[in-house]
Parts: sequence; structure tokens; C-alpha cells
Amino acid sequence: MKEKIRTLVDFHKEKIIKLTRNLVATPSETGTEGTIISVLTREMNEMGFEEIILDEMGNLIGRIGTGPKILAIDAHVDTVGLGELSNWGFNPLYGKIEDNKIYGRGSCDQKGGLATALYAVRLLKEIGFPKDLTLYFVASIYEENAEGVNWQFIIKNLGLKPQAVLLTEPSNLGIILGHRGRIDLEVHATGISSHGAMPDLGDNPIYKLSKIITEIEKLHENLPVDPDFGKGSIAVTAISSQSVSLNAVPEKALIYLDRRLGLTDSQESAIKEIAELPAVKESKAEVKVYSFKIKTHKGYEQTINAYYPSWKMNIDHPLVQVAIDTFKLQFDEDPETKLWQFSTNGVATKGLFDIPTIGFGPGDEKYAHTCEEHVPIDHLVKATEFYLRFYLNWAEKT
Ligand SMILES: [Zn+2]
Repeated sequence: MKEKIRTLVDFHKEKIIKLTRNLVATPSETGTEGTIISVLTREMNEMGFEEIILDEMGNLIGRIGTGPKILAIDAHVDTVGLGELSNWGFNPLYGKIEDNKIYGRGSCDQKGGLATALYAVRLLKEIGFPKDLTLYFVASIYEENAEGVNWQFIIKNLGLKPQAVLLTEPSNLGIILGHRGRIDLEVHATGISSHGAMPDLGDNPIYKLSKIITEIEKLHENLPVDPDFGKGSIAVTAISSQSVSLNAVPEKALIYLDRRLGLTDSQESAIKEIAELPAVKESKAEVKVYSFKIKTHKGYEQTINAYYPSWKMNIDHPLVQVAIDTFKLQFDEDPETKLWQFSTNGVATKGLFDIPTIGFGPGDEKYAHTCEEHVPIDHLVKATEFYLRFYLNWAEKT
């Protein structure tokens, strides 16, 4: 099987490169994924997907098979923006090839994974689609600004509940078992405004926050070490206040916090931790989860709470073992198993819904979001081989 897959992928190599370059050349900054979703709908139709759904949020979900073993592949199609164009030494929306690498925005994060995981489905059909498999290919949107919100929508509204999810974000061809979570919090302090010349008549909320900030700085130093993710962290990331004039004691003041979460932290525990600080209690400051509004390319609007739970798979879990086994079978060596430094749709699939989830993708994640973003062509070839073998192996061993 190893040689069969290698020969097949090698035969299709130019088409895999072409698809990747074509996707890189299709702009898809978060919120503007309409065009790439059309391109992918055409691809899925050509590949013979049996059902293709564009959901109300704007995610594209393709299905092949009706078997009892349900596997979902996730690839987010959006990218971060281009930033300052002059910082790129080339056109980031062309798919430049140099030194056997494809360069451009999204090449690494994560159109290489998108193209290869999708192409592997085509090859799976060619080799023989397993009878007892149902494969969902989810081209998800809006990941860069609100990871996991796409999958929350899909699970709640379409009822899709696969037995396993494979995330195709860049992993430098390592097998990913999880990542830290995050919650963004706000602390609101209220005071009494007075003339700046008579501050004693007022009650200054900035002074209340300054005590709170000192306690948060200490809290950071004393956060426990998470056995999986290392030392927890909390940081004050922004401050603002509301005042009738620069010569008045403000009536309100607000700080924003970035709290990275371990496996035992939750939304409740993170809020409680701040709410119970002596300075917060004393000043009666209010602690809230930061929320923001999104509007997708389909016009769908939602208010999002910035809570992204951590998740981690046990190395002994059958899904992880199938992935490790796949790598060994196809490449005759042990894979690297590791955690991602960044956050992904796994916050929903595993973090919120506890669906067994792993990650694997082409490209070194350190180039994601940079102006040197690229994916090596040999990674594309190896990733296609891995995905194809994984689809077969998972269907057989599950
Ligand atoms: Zn990504």
C-alpha cells in the first residue's frame, strides 16, 4: 500500500501544486471567503462529493459515503490580511514557486493543508472509498478571528457529530495533540465624576483599577504550572476610561485581560479568579468575558464571547494511535507528537464538544501570518500521502 500511495500521489503531484497555488491566488481574508468557497464548491462537485452544503454561516461541508464510521476533516479557508504590501518581497496572492516552496498569504496557514487533504479525498475515491466510511470535508470560515465558532454553528445547526476530527493546520508534518486555551476578560470599575480641580469630591475609578492591576501582576507570577501546557499566564493588554473632559475625574474605567488557560481552567474559574481579588471585591468592579460581533461573507451575524478552551488528546487514544501508525506505515519512521502554540477550531470540536480531535498539516507553523509565509512542495506530497493513508487506516481500525 505504501508504494501504491506514493506512486499515485507522485503521479498527481503537479495537480496538487496547481490546486495549492490556485487557492493561494484566491484572496480569502476573514469575512471575505465567498470566492474561495465558490472555487471549493466547484472542486468538490468535480471530485464527486455526494452532498455539498453551504450552511447559513457560510461554511462549506462536503460529504462522501454513508457508512457508520464518521470522520470529519477540517480546513479553515480564511487567512489573515496581507499587512503592509511593501514588506513582502513578492506578490502574496500569486503562488510564487522558489526553491521548491510555494510562497504567499495562506500558503502555510492553511491552504497547503486544505489542498492536500481535499486532493487526498479524490485519490481515496480512485483507490476505493471504504464502504463503512462517511467522510465530511469541512471548509470552515472565520477561523482567524473567532476559532471554533464555525464548528459550534455546524454542530448545533446541522447536527454534524463525527466520531473524529482531523485538523489540517500547519504542523511541520508532526502529529498535534492539543493546545492551550484563552479567555479575554474585561474589568469595569465605576466611580463618581468631579471637576479635575476638586478630585476629592469624586471617586476615581482609575485608582481602583491601579490596585487591581497590581494584584493581577502578582497573580500572574503565582499562577500554577499546568502539567500539560506549562505555566499559566495573565496579562493586562489594554486600558480605557470615560470622562466628560480631560479636566474631570472619570466616571468609568476599564481594563482588558488576556488569560491563557490550562486543561483545568474554565470560563467560570477564570472569571472567579479575578472576581475574588481583594481589590476587585473592595471596589465592586465587574468582571465580564469580552464579546464582539462578527459578520460573515454570507451576512450572518453573531455576538461572540472570547472564550476558547484548551484541549489535549491522550497519546493512548485510538485516534492518536491510528495517526501515529499511519505515519509509521507510510514513512517508516516515528512521527513527532507535540502541541500547537496557537489556537485552532479544536477549541470547539474537542474543547467544547469533546469529539476526539488531532492535527496534522504541511508547512512549518512558524511562518504562519508572516511575510515569508510558504509551504514546501515536499510537505505537500507527504501530507497528501499521509491524509490518504489516514482515511484508509482510520476506516479500517475504527
Ligand atoms: Zn490557521
